[in-house]
Amino acid sequence: MKAIQNKNQTAIERAQRKRIEGERSSRHFCASPSCFDPRSPILVGDLQPVLQASVGKAKMVFFHSECWKNQ
Ligand SMILES: [Zn+2]
Repeated sequence: MKAIQNKNQTAIERAQRKRIEGERSSRHFCASPSCFDPRSPILVGDLQPVLQASVGKAKMVFFHSECWKNQ
């Protein structure tokens, strides 16, 4: 019984930690031209990294998951 309780406890803690991390700001700004908030860094939980091929090399760009879906 104790082992099961500990396991649940850990899962809850992990979920809470994940939520806190999701509310943190990343250092990335949204690349969407129709972004609803282009001046603020994207929250970690909302970050959609996209590998974009340009001339000769690939580069990573970032979107809000919402902006990425609405493209
Ligand atoms: Zn955006």
